[in-house]
Amino acid sequence: EPHENKQAKPELLAEHLKRTNGVVVTRFPPEPNGFLHLGHAKSMNLNFSYAKKFNGYTYLRFDDTNPEAEKIEYINAIKDDVAWMGHKPAHVTHASEYFDKLYELAVELIKRGKAYVCHQVADEIKKGRQDRTDSPWRDRPVEENLRLFEDMKNGKFKEGEAILRMKQDMKSENPVMRDLIAYRIKYTPHPHVGDKWVIYPSYDYTHCLNDSLEDITHSLCTLEFERRRESYNWLVDVLGLYRPLVWECSRLNVTHVVLSKRKLIKLVDGKFVSGWDDPRMPTIRGLRRRGYTPTAINDFCNRVGVTRTENLIAYEMLEQCIREDLDLSVHRAMVVLDPIKVTFTNFTGEDRKVTVPNHPRDPTKGTHDLVFSNVIYIERADFRLEELKGYKRLVLGKSVGLSHAGFLVHAKDVKKDGEGNVTEILAEIEYQPAKKPAAFIHWVSAKSGTTPATAEVRLYDKLFKSPTLAAYKEEKNKWSTSGKTAAPAEDVDEVEEGEEEDKAEDKDKWLADLNPDSLKIVTAYVDESIADVKEGHRVQFERNGYFVVDREVTSEGRPVWNRTVKVILSKCD
Ligand code: ATP
Ligand code: MG
Ligand code: MG
Repeated sequence: EPHENKQAKPELLAEHLKRTNGVVVTRFPPEPNGFLHLGHAKSMNLNFSYAKKFNGYTYLRFDDTNPEAEKIEYINAIKDDVAWMGHKPAHVTHASEYFDKLYELAVELIKRGKAYVCHQVADEIKKGRQDRTDSPWRDRPVEENLRLFEDMKNGKFKEGEAILRMKQDMKSENPVMRDLIAYRIKYTPHPHVGDKWVIYPSYDYTHCLNDSLEDITHSLCTLEFERRRESYNWLVDVLGLYRPLVWECSRLNVTHVVLSKRKLIKLVDGKFVSGWDDPRMPTIRGLRRRGYTPTAINDFCNRVGVTRTENLIAYEMLEQCIREDLDLSVHRAMVVLDPIKVTFTNFTGEDRKVTVPNHPRDPTKGTHDLVFSNVIYIERADFRLEELKGYKRLVLGKSVGLSHAGFLVHAKDVKKDGEGNVTEILAEIEYQPAKKPAAFIHWVSAKSGTTPATAEVRLYDKLFKSPTLAAYKEEKNKWSTSGKTAAPAEDVDEVEEGEEEDKAEDKDKWLADLNPDSLKIVTAYVDESIADVKEGHRVQFERNGYFVVDREVTSEGRPVWNRTVKVILSKCD
């Protein structure tokens, strides 16, 4: 409960409560330097649901203090993804909206003797932090700091010639308290505020002040930030501002994917995937195109839960969530992904009609009719020349049932090509089997003399071969769960979560783990009920999985299908 914030000073808390009426206020603060991924879905889920639970509200705040990496395109995509996930921010703000206010507060900080203009370069800063020795400019007079800071703002220095540093504690055990950078010079126009500024506030300076200015009650972040909490509290306290409660929880890691925008960018730029929305990507856009629903993604986040222990969640858990969401709502159809022809030698008379339920467990979903002629197609994997223990499907000389038709197929003979591959099965059909078949297989047929409709089907597999990426292991070693393991004392200013890993020597080793078979494209025979459907349409292809129509179409104008997830087959399938 917000009024239980024992950290905030009573008089500041009282003011805060007047402004917020005591409701919970959270924020989701993405940096617009890429598209949102599953990790963000978890963070959103937590922030939005926590506020909602206590009748509060949530800010969507673009953490846009790094003008180089940020793009309007990302900002728009993020807004879109947040809405698609079903979240409704009470306010959409940008850290850059606060640049004037943040500048005023920096001047105030200098006046309070808590910040100074420093001319050390990166290596000197790093060394000073390692040796815990003060910058030679640490004790210059307030007046001089005020003048030089204004000079920084007015473009009188080149990039790197001056920075504003917080006067924290160079002797601190916590490297993230050794005079962090508050402002640096960058002659880069900002995507949101144009070229108004040549100095930009750092993450550590901005984040806590934004939280305080927005009256955030609970500032939820990932564990990598634990050591930065001391600086967070220091700054709001020194400025006499209301102090939000900071809570850390572990970062979401999922097997077989990477959850870091910096890595995902490399997959896109290196053309290892078709884009941010490639259906193999763990981005919100990728998942959406793959056929995931916001319900399934949020369900996954809830199941993962909020903890403080390092975790690596099985990708299969995400798959189970989408299966459960689609199971009852999605119609079914028969599609043969890898067809082999079956010709009935005893077929007589007209084509037949077979009526198929749209959902086997829900008669209210209706039925559709299929043609059944003297030729059908079945999956190559549903036929074998020789018997195999436990294999209940079609074997030469044996029989199997045909789903929905109830007919029995007896495989009598095969035709082979020059290399000995089976090209056709010659079979006899039994319309009213004497006893119930042990197993049923799916099939596709068409009016006699024609072939079934085709469709391009994209079958996806794991993006990375290993469940646990080397990079994940490295990261795990780097950040102990207690957060007490000191990260290298150097470069603490510019470091953000997930970014350290790139500094590792074998930084692109993880790319070698990409699964070369993560996409397989096949031409399938589809049942006529789904030959002509629109983008976003979902169907369960019996025994083959849940599929969704992609927004791309083939050159013949036919739909392209993405496999969202396989179905779990029972033993007799
Ligand atoms: P990335 O490393 O992918 O760039 P980030 O944390 O730098 O992630 P931000 O845009 O800063 O990306 O993240 C916005 C919010 O989402 C932050 O509060 C962050 O803690 C949270 N977040 C990002 N990734 C994860 C994750 N894997 N698990 C949980 N929360 C995450
Ligand atoms: Mg970040
Ligand atoms: Mg990042």
